Amino acid sequence: MILEIVTPYGSILSEDVDEVVASGTEGEFGVLPGHVSFVTTLNIGMLIYKKGGRNYYVFINSGYAEVISDNMMVLADSAERSEDIDIERAREAMKRAEERFKKEEDLDFTRSQTALQRAIMRIQVAEKASSR
Ligand code: ATP
Repeated sequence: MILEIVTPYGSILSEDVDEVVASGTEGEFGVLPGHVSFVTTLNIGMLIYKKGGRNYYVFINSGYAEVISDNMMVLADSAERSEDIDIERAREAMKRAEERFKKEEDLDFTRSQTALQRAIMRIQVAEKASSR
């Protein structure tokens, strides 16, 4: 099956893969060739695809996924393959988000929370690449 991941910053991935596991807003789901067509929204999370017996990891910053006849299209607000994540940048983003929580005046809670979720998930996905 073909997996494509597209963001406003460009195409992140277009590959022939064996299986995909992603984090939908309704829960984690797996897609194998021959899966019925469906559409779902995605959380900030980790997408895993399998190819030739290996696992590959991609950070997904929300969006949606559409599966139609062995094609899975992911449209995300931003996304990076594990090896493309700048882990120091993610750690800095995490610190900034944590600092915002400490300063209670004009705290935009949801914005700080999602920035923190992105940073934590990027660090987790990047660590998958370095542990391979
Ligand atoms: P930051 O505060 O560090 O900019 P962010 O979560 O606000 O992080 P996004 O809005 O999700 O960033 O993404 C903006 C662009 O920067 C996208 O192209 C995204 O892929 C890229 N990007 C963000 N953080 C990282 C990172 N840690 N490593 C590599 N690319 C990143």
